[in-house]
Amino acid sequence: MMVKELNLVLLGGPGAGKGTQASRLVSEKDLEHLATGDILRDEVSRNTRLGKRAKEYMDKGELVPDELVIDMVRKRVENKSSSGYLFDGFPRTVEQAEALEGILELDAVIYIDVSREEVVRRLSARRVCSDCGTNFNLKFDPPSEEGVCDKCGGGLVQRDDDQPQVIEDRYDTFLKKTAPLIDYYRERGLLKEVDGEGTPGQVYQRVVDKLGENG
Ligand code: AMP
Repeated sequence: MMVKELNLVLLGGPGAGKGTQASRLVSEKDLEHLATGDILRDEVSRNTRLGKRAKEYMDKGELVPDELVIDMVRKRVENKSSSGYLFDGFPRTVEQAEALEGILELDAVIYIDVSREEVVRRLSARRVCSDCGTNFNLKFDPPSEEGVCDKCGGGLVQRDDDQPQVIEDRYDTFLKKTAPLIDYYRERGLLKEVDGEGTPGQVYQRVVDKLGENG
């Protein structure tokens, strides 16, 4: 018997907890995690052509142009066979959503809803391991030893785009460019809304409950 593919999108503003929820979902549902922000940061750190172009937008809290991101996603999906994908941070515009429709069929879009105040609180306290990419939060989920990753011992840093003004700009970008996708997917019957406030475990339980509603 063929195992049915499951293709999911995690939609939400910056700091909504997409990355945290994604790591749990991919390990429990055996999905391929496709986080465009992570891929772009990797391109930037390797100083590739794409990385150089993307950096100027990322540093300002703006979106990288659609054609660059769509091309990057298309290549990854075409070159791999997987039991399904979890898109994290993609699509972020209606144009990207339309392109994704031509690439594969989605089963559900999980929208993690978090207030602007909570986003600013979370992101200003976020620290990321410079080696393995694990996220910590100085207030809610601090590392055991200050400045050191619990998982791999790497050094913890603040993302360039987690500076206060850039956080505000990223949130404005989300409202303008990405929030229209909430209605876009609601109209297509794919949207599952989840309250993103609370602990990662509480939010994960809500996500799983929502996914379970249609089998
Ligand atoms: P994230 O890690 O998802 O918060 O993404 C960090 C930054 O990467 C964003 O602020 C954008 O500049 C860029 N980025 C990530 N995903 C996309 C996307 N789907 N479309 C355009 N830009 C993106």
